[in-house]
Amino acid sequence: MAWDFSTEPEFQKQLDWVAEFCRTEVEPLDLVFPGAAYSRDPKAKALADPLKQQVKDHGLWALFLDEELGGPGFGQLKLALLNEILGRYRSAPVIFGTAAPDTGNMEMLAAYGTEEQKERWLKPLMNQEIFSAYSMTEPQGGSDPNLFKTHATRDGDGWVINGEKWFTSAGFHADIIFVMCTNGMFVVPRETPGVEIMEYPAVHNHIRYKNVRVPADHLLGPEDGAKVLAQRRLGGGRIHHAMRTVAQVKLAFDMMCERALSRESHGKVIAEHQMVQEMIADSYAEINMLRLLVLWTAWTIDNTDTRQSRTQIATCKYTCAKVLREVSYRALHVMGSLGTTDLTPLQAMWAGAPTMAIADGVDEVHKVTVARNVLKGYEPHPGLWPTEYIPAKRDEARKKYADMIAADPDLTAWADLAAKRSHGRVR
Ligand SMILES: Cc1cc2nc3c(=O)[nH]c(=O)nc-3n(C[C@H](O)[C@H](O)[C@H](O)COP(=O)(O)OP(=O)(O)OC[C@H]3O[C@@H](n4cnc5c(N)ncnc54)[C@H](O)[C@@H]3O)c2cc1C
Repeated sequence: MAWDFSTEPEFQKQLDWVAEFCRTEVEPLDLVFPGAAYSRDPKAKALADPLKQQVKDHGLWALFLDEELGGPGFGQLKLALLNEILGRYRSAPVIFGTAAPDTGNMEMLAAYGTEEQKERWLKPLMNQEIFSAYSMTEPQGGSDPNLFKTHATRDGDGWVINGEKWFTSAGFHADIIFVMCTNGMFVVPRETPGVEIMEYPAVHNHIRYKNVRVPADHLLGPEDGAKVLAQRRLGGGRIHHAMRTVAQVKLAFDMMCERALSRESHGKVIAEHQMVQEMIADSYAEINMLRLLVLWTAWTIDNTDTRQSRTQIATCKYTCAKVLREVSYRALHVMGSLGTTDLTPLQAMWAGAPTMAIADGVDEVHKVTVARNVLKGYEPHPGLWPTEYIPAKRDEARKKYADMIAADPDLTAWADLAAKRSHGRVR
């Protein structure tokens, strides 16, 4: 019997350390020096680097990468348990070397990079000596890659890229940008002439690539392989988001329960009002459904090939957006007026729910993927009636007892009555 919902005691010890470390070190840094973990400023680094070193000393750095790709090889299930803690704290993913968009880009490099490319970009990315961004979406279309136009033209011993990208997260901060072209994925140093970052949006950048020349060895993976690389990149990112969403909704839930027990209204604590209890009960159920879905998916990634897990990852993608929207809204509502302010994390969490439904592919596209894949396991029924049409099934089942029914009038009466009852003729 292989079912097991327990965590290895040794890993649980590490999780306990992570929870304590995040509470006592990461959260204070976030509250007092927001952004320090990402910054290149020497003063910020002096605050954040010792924390990163502690994570490395505990063997918990860059957990998302398998051993053969340069990480500790803990696998997705352990990463999911870790992210259930990290997702509560803004800069924890950076402090643990597991922050997007670098993680997905590192996965692409690890899987498709040449030894030389890994040496040049993967190692410095892992050590956060450099940062990266990912340029896929274009102004005229995001969900449908067939609308992308950015193209690289072979020119002598290099490539010349022309195109326009939209919503490249942290492009302004990146040293290298992974640019998805119609004919391949290219690594473009941000300082390359022709890379023009527009004034807005401020964080998720609009970038023009105008005659951007890169050497031939900046093509990552095979020529025309960009879609395959993008799938590889985005699959990992989606499940990591879902893992961190579990942490977010648990935080919202903790806040909701604490508040429900702390406030009074109309003669009793609000936790005793049944409509508040319904919100708590529904949230509890939804959080646990999401959590089990995410853990099951992580287990599937660890134990089967990626193709099998694709449907599950897509299911996590839209389910985490939905649960985040529902639970953060209820928690905000139970918090009353305070919930509508930026004095608790709830307003930002709720406002982030639509983002979750759009980033890494809109929910609709993932639902289509899931429905299509699930339907592959079904076939149309052969005749007029569906397979579960009871009269037909009963007629078929009756053949099994034909001899007994023929020999015994009591059994005949019983079987005839049962048939009439479920056909709705006898009350
Ligand atoms: C916070 C954030 C960070 C991001 N970071 C990056 C990044 O680093 N790099 C990058 O390249 N991109 C990034 N993106 C962009 C993201 O990948 C796109 O927003 C996403 O793919 C959707 O594209 P779009 O915005 O053009 O929406 P559209 O494709 O225009 O879709 C708009 C709406 O149309 C409907 N729709 C679209 N297609 C379908 C369909 N097949 N079936 C049914 N309805 C459909 C849906 O309602 C959808 O919400 C980020 C987005 C966000 C929100």
